[in-house]
Amino acid sequence: MVVAAAGGLVPPTPPVPNPTTSEARLYFVPFDDYHELPADCYAQNLIRPFEIILHWDGNQQGRDLWLAPVTFETLQYVRQSAHFAVDYKRSWQMLPMYTTLVQESYGAMGYNWAAINVEMAGLEFDRPENRPPEGEVALAVRLVSQLMDHYAIVFEHVVAHFERDPRGDKRDPGVIFMARFRERLAAYRASRSPLKQALSAEA
Ligand SMILES: [Zn+2]
Repeated sequence: MVVAAAGGLVPPTPPVPNPTTSEARLYFVPFDDYHELPADCYAQNLIRPFEIILHWDGNQQGRDLWLAPVTFETLQYVRQSAHFAVDYKRSWQMLPMYTTLVQESYGAMGYNWAAINVEMAGLEFDRPENRPPEGEVALAVRLVSQLMDHYAIVFEHVVAHFERDPRGDKRDPGVIFMARFRERLAAYRASRSPLKQALSAEA
């Protein structure tokens, strides 16, 4: 059972494939920003997510091509997948998602049975010249917060790919970046807590 395994991060053995659901489809992005990857890019299995794993997409072609459509094209080409691609002005949803279940992606080997994967456009975010645009960070924070609320994912289960890599060769999205991202996410969520909102309404 996935919930019982959450603390130890041990996958169910083996998961019984759950290819279909009668749950309603969900779109966390505007209609124009839903672009579904081909079926051979992801597992024909639905999972109940309890983690969100952040990535950089590794695009080495320069900042001008740090774009969600390029992330999509690359994933399609290499037959890999993530649930979202985020750039400086938009988030693309790339896989089917439902009320409590989501399509299993090929985003983080060993952890896909429980994870929503989010690709941020770019690479080596810890290098000063490679820091992602402010708009990209803001969009990622907002998206992750929205997913946490919807799927009841706790703050401690918003993690970096380098923290969920059984082979130990992933560095994305960077140690410094991830620490900053957690600060941003915590601040964003505090700013929109019911208590804070009530207080600011009174002010
Ligand atoms: Zn990654």
